[in-house]
Amino acid sequence: MQISQGKIMSNNESGMPLIPHVKPIEKLRTSGKINIVGMPRKVLASELLTITPKPKSIKMRETQIWNWIYQKGAKSFDIMTNISKEYRENLKRKFSIERPTLTKKQISCDGTRKYLLRLHDGNEIEAVYIPEKNRGTLCISSQVGCTLNCSFCFTGTQKLVRNLKSEDIIGQILVVRDDLNEWPYNGMPKDRKRQISNIVMMGMGEPLYNYDSVRDALHIVMDNEGIALSKKRITLSTSGVVPEIEKTGHEIGCLLAISFHATTDEVRNNLVPINRKWNIEKLLNALRSYPSLSNSQRITFEYVMLKDVNDSDLDAKRLVKLIAGIPAKINLIPFNPWPGSPYQRSTKKRINSFAKIVNRAGYASPIRSPRGEDIMAACGQLKSESIKLKKNLFEDKKIFKT
Ligand code: SF4
Repeated sequence: MQISQGKIMSNNESGMPLIPHVKPIEKLRTSGKINIVGMPRKVLASELLTITPKPKSIKMRETQIWNWIYQKGAKSFDIMTNISKEYRENLKRKFSIERPTLTKKQISCDGTRKYLLRLHDGNEIEAVYIPEKNRGTLCISSQVGCTLNCSFCFTGTQKLVRNLKSEDIIGQILVVRDDLNEWPYNGMPKDRKRQISNIVMMGMGEPLYNYDSVRDALHIVMDNEGIALSKKRITLSTSGVVPEIEKTGHEIGCLLAISFHATTDEVRNNLVPINRKWNIEKLLNALRSYPSLSNSQRITFEYVMLKDVNDSDLDAKRLVKLIAGIPAKINLIPFNPWPGSPYQRSTKKRINSFAKIVNRAGYASPIRSPRGEDIMAACGQLKSESIKLKKNLFEDKKIFKT
């Protein structure tokens, strides 16, 4: 599959089954206005020129607007009091400030928060906030559903509906900041530690199959006048879309995580089917030349521990041989079973033995402690429950409002 400028084209070079074309189900905003959230700086600048053709003032206007939206959480132009009333009226005529709607929130006893968010066209996505002692990580989605069918992943059971736009990606961060009351404007002292200190693109979807929107959104996240998080605090996780990896390093420059999970092509073809197109060798070659790769910017290899599938000592030894020379850390993830999943979680003893071998070879190999198990089990389940609920309501002929 290749996705370009929002259009989805399928080909059969990959050896993977062809995935039917899917049409975005986007609806025009009823207001007919343009959502200013997620708009790249350059686009905003040219739009502002249509309001006042005075190029000299555009940079100042951009900064003011971004500051209100991304640093103070403004939901309306009316509160932008350092902008003249007349200019605000012009902005209101042309733009809206919109974010997804929070439709469901679950809070785990360990503090993990899982959100179901409805986009303006009615599609739903998930985001998860994981608080830890010294940081708070927000995991966000890049697509509604996914095309890749990784066999251990619940989201892989949901077909791709559409790519998220930059506004949908940034919107997830804004909604969670609302929920955490993280806006200085709402009374948060400036020196209070940020609750969202890290962003990971590990939610629903393959970010590198939605490259342009992900790049635009992450530029806003990294911009000092935007969400203002360092690129070292942003991790993009890919299943291995090899042709986009180098570009990601040059144009985004964030940390990279690889959904790796196997040490032979035979096993990886089953777990991560994109491997049939770009196998382990091609993937590792691309990683070796990832721009900015260094000991302080290591690649994270995500490795889900599946009983009797990929968890042997031999696998651990093969893994360290494969990644030799790549500054890396290996995250070992005990599998989180979901209803109907064909796999079981490896035993603790097995995971520890695997970790020991990787660790002895000089790689950090943290075993990720399962978070929020009481509320989620697996990524994509909240959305799946919501779909089932809607289906039941329709079947019961009850009134359902999106
Ligand atoms: S692991 Fe990622 S790429 Fe694979 S199916 Fe799940 S969401 Fe898609």
